[in-house]
Amino acid sequence: MKNSISTPIEISKTNRSKIEQVDFENLNFGKTFTDHMFICNYANGVWETPKIIPYGPLTLDPSSRVFHYGQAVFEGMKAYKDEHDDIFMFRPEENFNRINASAKRLCIPEFPEAYFFDGLKTLLELDSDWIKPGYGNSLYIRPFVIATEASVLALEADEYSFMIICSPAQSYYAGEVNLLIEEKYSRSASGGFGYAKAAGNYAGQFYPTNLAKDKGYQQLIWTDSNTHEYIEEAGTMNVFFRINDTLRTAPISDRILDGITRKSLLEIAKREGITVDVSPIRISEIITAAENGTLKEVFGAGTAAVISPVKGFGHQGTHYDIEPIENSYASFFKKTLMDIQYNKAEDTFGWRYKV
Ligand SMILES: *Cc1c(COP(=O)(O)O)cnc(C)c1O
Repeated sequence: MKNSISTPIEISKTNRSKIEQVDFENLNFGKTFTDHMFICNYANGVWETPKIIPYGPLTLDPSSRVFHYGQAVFEGMKAYKDEHDDIFMFRPEENFNRINASAKRLCIPEFPEAYFFDGLKTLLELDSDWIKPGYGNSLYIRPFVIATEASVLALEADEYSFMIICSPAQSYYAGEVNLLIEEKYSRSASGGFGYAKAAGNYAGQFYPTNLAKDKGYQQLIWTDSNTHEYIEEAGTMNVFFRINDTLRTAPISDRILDGITRKSLLEIAKREGITVDVSPIRISEIITAAENGTLKEVFGAGTAAVISPVKGFGHQGTHYDIEPIENSYASFFKKTLMDIQYNKAEDTFGWRYKV
């Protein structure tokens, strides 16, 4: 990573900022976007000169392969401002590596590192007024790549657009959620691309999630596609269980997204001397722990909500409540991570990235 810009980026600024129209106290997550966006096209085997242009609609041929075959990958990351108006990101090289790992699985050409970091830095500096200081405020950053080649032939494209759009966000606390353990539908399958942030993985989640919503659950706990006996993820987050004082999560595989929040929590836990057990988690173990009172906490972990505490879960028609506890791991991890992200604590891991 470097901090001086070496990439030639063509910048065309908007002559009319929308920022005055935005109510930063009442943001709907993912609905409002900043004044500019980054775009870099791939054609004839090369990524062309990156551009920053006013945020706005795209013009694409209706046969563009992304519309037909879902050849698209994305990332989710955040920028934070401290009280000195310095801008920080959290482990962005992990997102860079992951979007290229996702791209590789979908036959999308890898994006150059300098373009990614120089594009991000230039975009964030241009739209820096959209990043509000204050604990919990952030700018949600969505890099993505789509196959733009005009053709309905079912093959990987030879033209793409890599883009970055940014959306101001407030800390959101969705309330505590109830999750339903899913034993029929799968988010991903062995040999598939569940480990990639590929657009199609998410389209397939909506239907089974809606079935759970009809039963009063906000999200699903996904189980393995082979046996549906092992717990893998929750909604679009990695999932953690605290049984007595041991922190448990499933090992990553080709079915599980290798979350940056997840791997950061595991490192924080190690530093704090919390016992960690990363091994396949049987549904039956969780049911037993819920019944005998050793299941102390369940929470999701991901960039958007950081930590999402779970207040109960359903399994085969039975509902299990999880009693709230003092000094929860969930609140400890959330504060520890956010203090690093907002430049409020010493960063012993070297995770904070100053833009
Ligand atoms: C993005 C994502 C996560 C969380 O990853 P982070 O890097 O922590 O944001 C977990 N599971 C799925 C399915 C995801 O798409």
